[in-house]
Amino acid sequence: MSIAKNIFNLRGKLPFGVELIAVSKTKPIEVLNEAYHAGQRHFGENKVQEMVQKHDAMPKDIHWHMIGHLQRNKVKYMASFVHLIHGVDNFSLLEEINKQGQKHNRVIDCLLQIKIAQEDTKFGLEPEEALAILQSDDYKEFENVKITGLMGMASFTTDNTQIQKEFELLKSTFDRFKILDPTIEILSMGMSGDFELAINCGSNMIRVGSLIFGERN
Ligand SMILES: *Cc1c(COP(=O)(O)O)cnc(C)c1O
Repeated sequence: MSIAKNIFNLRGKLPFGVELIAVSKTKPIEVLNEAYHAGQRHFGENKVQEMVQKHDAMPKDIHWHMIGHLQRNKVKYMASFVHLIHGVDNFSLLEEINKQGQKHNRVIDCLLQIKIAQEDTKFGLEPEEALAILQSDDYKEFENVKITGLMGMASFTTDNTQIQKEFELLKSTFDRFKILDPTIEILSMGMSGDFELAINCGSNMIRVGSLIFGERN
């Protein structure tokens, strides 16, 4: 199957209003270009340096999503162009993003990552911690960073009941956020193995890698 076919097949399954992020981490430029020529404009990467290199080499109408765990000292390299940072899981990172946004005279959109999985290896905030950040006076003073939604990753398991429970927790947290701030609109949840379940639970942004590009090494 070609990458273009994979993208068309996937798009055919998505309800209106669900954004597809093609997760292209570890894949070379030629492979990303195939997806680009199939009309794909949103790409997700999990390493800043790799994303910067791909941004430099590729057409400038691409929206780049940073989906990986992010360190403060890396924000500056992508602050001029990143479209959305998905994995914000602490206040000091938000503070740094605001500072870098200010330097580039732009507002950088971010999602707070919520820990919904049972594994200790997965990052993220507790729902209450995330709500506290959204409502904090410090955040309200930031003019160059905007929390536009939430992101989460379900446990690595074949137990769909467990995955569904985790997605429902994220969706209910998202609903609480929206009541406090009606401009919150993005719920990033769902990957190759669980995007259909995620959409049924209310996701409007899915991050799909292997289903488009094949397995990673
Ligand atoms: C790698 C990755 C994905 C894509 O995973 P697939 O199973 O290949 O679709 C989605 N989200 C995050 C945060 C990732 O790191």
